[in-house]
Amino acid sequence: MSQKKSLFSDAQSRMADIFDRLDVHCDVRRQLAQPKCIHQAAIPVRMDDGSLRVFPGWRVQYDQSRGPGKGGVRFHPNVDADEVTALSFWMVLKCALVNLPFGGAKGGVQVDPKLLSRMELERLSRGYIRAFYDVIGPDRDIPAPDVNTNEIVMGWMVDEYSEITREKVPAIITGKPPEMGGSAGRTAATGRGALLVLETWARRKGKRPEDTTIAVQGFGNAGYYFALLAHEAGYRIVALSDSKGAIHTNKALDPEPIWRHKNETRELKGMVYCESSVCTESDVGQISQEALLALDVDVLVLAALENAITTDNVGQVRAGAILEIANGPVTAKADASLAEKKVTVLPDVLANAGGVIVSYLEWVQNRTGDYWSQSYINERLADQLVNQAELCFDRADEMDVSYRVAAYLQSVERIVSAIASRGTQQYFIGE
Ligand code: NAD
Repeated sequence: MSQKKSLFSDAQSRMADIFDRLDVHCDVRRQLAQPKCIHQAAIPVRMDDGSLRVFPGWRVQYDQSRGPGKGGVRFHPNVDADEVTALSFWMVLKCALVNLPFGGAKGGVQVDPKLLSRMELERLSRGYIRAFYDVIGPDRDIPAPDVNTNEIVMGWMVDEYSEITREKVPAIITGKPPEMGGSAGRTAATGRGALLVLETWARRKGKRPEDTTIAVQGFGNAGYYFALLAHEAGYRIVALSDSKGAIHTNKALDPEPIWRHKNETRELKGMVYCESSVCTESDVGQISQEALLALDVDVLVLAALENAITTDNVGQVRAGAILEIANGPVTAKADASLAEKKVTVLPDVLANAGGVIVSYLEWVQNRTGDYWSQSYINERLADQLVNQAELCFDRADEMDVSYRVAAYLQSVERIVSAIASRGTQQYFIGE
């Protein structure tokens, strides 16, 4: 049996307090304690050398009280049912928090995609859809990109769905290439949204971009766009890391040439993965990835994977605030220690919600056939996210609770109303 700590149990451990504060009925607690459905499949892939490999894959639909399931598909060697379940649960909270008409779902395949060729990767992506096409749908559950999947992978997936159903159904998947119905602004949306959340908070606290230093763990899709837009807005990015290493300067890094350099020097194996690192940037000093987490910066941005800050390293954190772009980057116990140290945490469900907001806009465009400009999308994203962030921050101030507690209260309140509107024990037999 695996000794890995359960991410889902850690995620659930934060809920009792929220349910108690809202005096949530036990019917609702029971409904939200476990996923509605866990689909598991063995996905066969014919490899280039003629051999057959079979990869385990999942689609977890956690709750659909507020609408069809929504959530990305992750390709990673550590993916398992527990991780996908935790991620699907956070999607439920996130969609409700920013008031989208979606429930929560998530998918994943246990695979190291960097070891696959392009064609193997395409076969796997199509295989994922063949395994789950009958449980997803524009009104059931809509996948999107996550770690190690991108718009090319989404393109293969939407194409496979069309082949199976003999229909063009662009709204089945979001984060597609624009030529296949993808939305303007989707690739940058998570990073853009994270910056909007940071700026909303900074404005309330009277902090100026030019006085704010930032270190970013995870220079991938979300981390790069955040760093790029934050740099353009005047913030000082002083450190960046990826899975291979970290760089640091006392001045300011310009993310765009570093990203270009990282991508240009890659040695292609699977076409969509960057094989080089931020460390190939030679002009700045290298530090360890752990040292980046301990830098004395104003904002530490966590944009890699879950469990970046745990009880093992929380004591070393010196940042004044943490912006969680990754899902679940701080464990529940480490979160409590950060609160004691008065470190502000801008929680994942809010900070990374920009991606799912623009996914929602993509879904609406696909369903209406009316396609919008990048500037209109950015306006809608800002409008939706900043309004919901202000509500959350107001509640935190009024109740003197953390932003995470305020965010969870905001979303659970909405989910509870959706469940209760179908009737609970109180309605049917009274109490
Ligand atoms: P990605 O694969 O593009 O980037 C992840 C980055 O993290 C890579 O650069 C990788 O090298 C780096 N990394 C991995 N381990 C690391 C370590 N130990 N130290 C430093 N860096 C490390 O993935 P992404 O799409 O940018 O997603 C990143 C996180 O954001 C995930 O938790 C994902 O669930 C979350 N997220 C992404 C989106 C989105 O739209 N892409 C939306 C919401 C949430």
